[in-house]
Amino acid sequence: MSDTSFDYDLFVIGGGSGGVRAARVAAGEYGAKVALAEDDRYGGTCVIRGCVPKKLMVFASGYAGVAEEARAYGWDLKEGPFDWAAFQGKLNAELDRLEGVYRTLLAGSGVETFDQRATLQDAHTVKLADGTTKSAKHILVATGGRPVRPDMPNADLGIVSDDIFHLKTLPKSILIVGGGYIACEFACILNGLGVEVSQYYRGAQVLRGFDDEARGLVSNSMIENGIDLHLGTNIAEMALASERPDGPTPTTSDAAGGAPAPEAEANRAGSGPVWVKSTNGTETVFDLVFYATGRDPASTDMGLEEIGVELGRRGEIVVDDYSQTAVPSVYAIGDVTNRVNLTPVAIREGMAFTKTVFGGEPEPVDHDLIASAVFTQPEMGTVGLSEEDAAKQEEIEVYATSFKPMQTAFAEQSARVLMKLIVSKATRVVLGCHIVAPAAGELIQLAGIAVKAKLTKEQFDATCAVHPTMSEELVTMRTPTRTA
Ligand code: NDP
Repeated sequence: MSDTSFDYDLFVIGGGSGGVRAARVAAGEYGAKVALAEDDRYGGTCVIRGCVPKKLMVFASGYAGVAEEARAYGWDLKEGPFDWAAFQGKLNAELDRLEGVYRTLLAGSGVETFDQRATLQDAHTVKLADGTTKSAKHILVATGGRPVRPDMPNADLGIVSDDIFHLKTLPKSILIVGGGYIACEFACILNGLGVEVSQYYRGAQVLRGFDDEARGLVSNSMIENGIDLHLGTNIAEMALASERPDGPTPTTSDAAGGAPAPEAEANRAGSGPVWVKSTNGTETVFDLVFYATGRDPASTDMGLEEIGVELGRRGEIVVDDYSQTAVPSVYAIGDVTNRVNLTPVAIREGMAFTKTVFGGEPEPVDHDLIASAVFTQPEMGTVGLSEEDAAKQEEIEVYATSFKPMQTAFAEQSARVLMKLIVSKATRVVLGCHIVAPAAGELIQLAGIAVKAKLTKEQFDATCAVHPTMSEELVTMRTPTRTA
């Protein structure tokens, strides 16, 4: 039963994966009167400028080596050029289709939508950009995050991940800054698509926080595949190459080749080749610089702190286990809370919120043992503790094997894969599983069930192998590689 003293039972701000799911379930399953405001495209980061277009680019990039490999198997296939414009047209059409699906799902659940920015006026009132106000018994903030550039002179010369999908042409050369998910994934994607990729990462090894052995293999593979990876390196200075008459002559072919299309141009990003001086003193000119230096919660200028919602150091909305903020009628889910910034997690947080608030069954969000994948080439799939973190916690056995998989070994390629289990000595429970291999994202989804279920090494071993596969090693490793 709706509370008639408010315009809505629920007002959701943000039409990404988390917000849309919460709105649909609250309206469709619990019969709540729901509205949702979105000032950009429906589908949010994941669908419009993240996971979905990125994965389609991963697929596009993955065809790069197909002809060579197929020849080793007897096929008469020849390499051809990659047509970015043709791919981009199809990509945009697919994103339009998906956005349409999101709008249809909301309308079909009876959610009223407002295509404009919304801010909070008080604990129960949302103010829309057109000046109208709407009252709601509950307000859910699901505004996500946005990419950030480092605070340094001329940082606006660099593009961010939002811009990459709008490039009019692919650059001949690119410098990617960062060593996280986005930096490594796009280094591999663009390398596969034929761009000369350099990557600067300030730390000692990319993919900080992941298992050392696994990220070491990813890093080595990236270098073997042709990415010019510089560890312990950052940008010291940068400027438009055209504004440095004494600087090195650009070696790039197409001055503004990588410029984003006008709609993505909010600054000087992509306005010409960029001269970069690195922290170790080298000077290079790149067609494009791409900052993949992290994302911040999108919580600014929303009136949150003014009404008493607490924000953390990075601007994240502070919530309890039920996604409730310091203002009881205001909840927040997804990247704006900076808990585990992954789409399926935002969706689960949205589901737990609706169950708690509209289903009368308080459900805390379970953030334990979430499997995830980094879509590098090769992919890395991971769930649970790294060897390093597990060893700090208790005595462990490590079962690991690295080998050349049958498919590419036959084609005389040097690519290696890694299958690794971290096992508790005391309980025999598998504490972590790390896979570096083609399709590791698919494999870790399944291994994740076993690790989430806290199965023991002996239960893994009781599972008969599927032969011949790469992942059969996960159930056939008999002796520990080492203990720690
Ligand atoms: P990450 O936080 O993963 O990585 C940011 C990288 O930038 C780190 O290597 C960091 O270095 C570096 N960095 C930060 N500030 C600076 C600076 N001032 N100068 C130089 N380097 C800097 O962020 P991403 O943007 O890659 O991804 C954001 C989030 O999006 C991820 O955490 C993940 O949750 C999600 N995501 C998930 C994907 C997936 O599931 N496949 C794909 C893409 C994104 P340092 O390590 O030293 O801090």
